[in-house]
Amino acid sequence: MTQATQLPTQQSTTATFRALKCKECGEEYELKAIHVCELCFGPLEVAYDYDALRRQVTRESIQAGPRSIWRYRPFLPVATDTPIDVGTGLTPLVQAKRLARRLGLNKLYIKNDAVNMPTLSFKDRVVSVALTRARELGFSTVSCASTGNLANSTAAIAAHAGLDCCVFIPADLEAGKVMGTLIYSPTVMAVQGNYDQVNRLCSEVANTHGWGFVNINLRPYYSEGSKTLGYEVAEQLGWQLPDHIVAPLASGSLFTKIYKGFREFVDVGLVEDKHVRFSGAQADGCSPIAQAYREGRDFISPVKPNTIAKSIAIGNPADGVYAVDIARKTNGNIESVTDAEIVEGIKLLAETEGIFTETAGGTTVAVLKKLVEAGKIDPDETTVVYITGNGLKTQEAVQGYVGEPLTIEPKLDSFERALERSHTLDRLEWQQVLV
Ligand SMILES: *Cc1c(COP(=O)(O)O)cnc(C)c1O
Repeated sequence: MTQATQLPTQQSTTATFRALKCKECGEEYELKAIHVCELCFGPLEVAYDYDALRRQVTRESIQAGPRSIWRYRPFLPVATDTPIDVGTGLTPLVQAKRLARRLGLNKLYIKNDAVNMPTLSFKDRVVSVALTRARELGFSTVSCASTGNLANSTAAIAAHAGLDCCVFIPADLEAGKVMGTLIYSPTVMAVQGNYDQVNRLCSEVANTHGWGFVNINLRPYYSEGSKTLGYEVAEQLGWQLPDHIVAPLASGSLFTKIYKGFREFVDVGLVEDKHVRFSGAQADGCSPIAQAYREGRDFISPVKPNTIAKSIAIGNPADGVYAVDIARKTNGNIESVTDAEIVEGIKLLAETEGIFTETAGGTTVAVLKKLVEAGKIDPDETTVVYITGNGLKTQEAVQGYVGEPLTIEPKLDSFERALERSHTLDRLEWQQVLV
């Protein structure tokens, strides 16, 4: 292959995605940077040639692929054989025995995207796909409206790919999320408003500047990246689907795409069909999807967010109605929890499993606990809980709710006295628990 370096682009001969299709009316569109149906304003979704996928993909072909989301490339909307691969995906699926025992469950797993690459949240999945597609569509500047993690991912992966980057965040984000974006030297717009206002502004900028907004005009491609959270769990469970999943809901996209991922694996014959129950988690301070679910509504009433779970604080969720529909038809649930329960959820996961998650993960663990206590999760169901972000980014949330280091002199007797004091404190705490 002496001429390989002269080939202009590496187009795959086996592209399996064929159109953008309206989720509401079914109208089809060319594979461009558009996200809304011109006829009915419904959201557009990528459609695939499943016959081609069935012919092309086997368990073996996937297992022979890279140790990243790109082992599922035929199921993702990119044409290139050389996608932007920064090691995103294939995060651990951990059997959570101690958390399970604490809650009274028997088969509990944690899908741990708190250690996803490169920026420690599930957003690296969607951004790896969106920026690969952005490059194919000829964009040189990429952008996003973000609650924090998306800005981290977009800035980092754009830096790796050599794309210009300008991100928009609400001005009141956690310090770790802001620093975790600035370090890559993108342009950062801190908007004095909530996420929904940031998003509206970005829709206007997308119309005037010709940039690739990963979660606006590139949204159909971007959102497909979340399907890999479904594929990986199926593969890591030994090519089987779980009985029940619990995942956080912001726009609702992640939740609906795990569902799509499972369905596709069944459709192309990679796993046996199974009824999987889908349960969603929100914070009380921003729970428009949980409210619609509870009240049996088919529409979402937008809310103004007020919660420590900022990464999932979307008051007007684009895929909310689809999330409600999936929870209902799979006999799942959508629940919400208080900020205090979120902090407890973060601590519970850390103490039982050694995983430090951010507020979104605390929300999900707290909802898991609530569902178990209400008898809505069968102890013998194989249950997978999606932990989507890392606690080092939202340290403010647990400040004041964890212990403090024991400051000592560099002397053995100082250590011994401190140790004795800490044991006494432990005993006192236990006595308080017991009374
Ligand atoms: C964005 C985000 C979610 C949810 O995303 P949606 O697809 O919009 O529902 C969940 N967890 C974390 C940590 C996030 O950053």
